[in-house]
Amino acid sequence: MATTWYPDTCDCVHQQVDDGAGDVMHVGTERVCADHGGLAGLAAYTQARKESSTKNNVRALAAETVAKLRKTNPDGSVDLPDTVTYAWTFTGLGLARALTVQFSGVNLSNADKTALRNAIAAAPARVPVTTTVS
Ligand SMILES: [Zn+2]
Repeated sequence: MATTWYPDTCDCVHQQVDDGAGDVMHVGTERVCADHGGLAGLAAYTQARKESSTKNNVRALAAETVAKLRKTNPDGSVDLPDTVTYAWTFTGLGLARALTVQFSGVNLSNADKTALRNAIAAAPARVPVTTTVS
């Protein structure tokens, strides 16, 4: 069944379908946003998926990597503590869009910051990421 996907990382609108095995496929484009304006429908969709997954993966990686950025839920999953704010923005256009992330509300040691940057750098590259930690 096709669903409409509104990425939280841009203003594109795409139609996608789950193949039943967990893979989501692009089936149509309703709108390509200004940031992805130079890309055709499928290319805009693929780029938006990369951006969204990178943004979500960095958040998960932070919780997995740095103890001060980890809250363990009752089911054993981890997330950022409620006191930590994860802010993100994208700059650039089309395939050159890059992610900048910032974690605030926590005092990280230099070792924490280095571990986080190294973990992000070692993660599978999706879109370029700049990290600011305060
Ligand atoms: Zn877009």
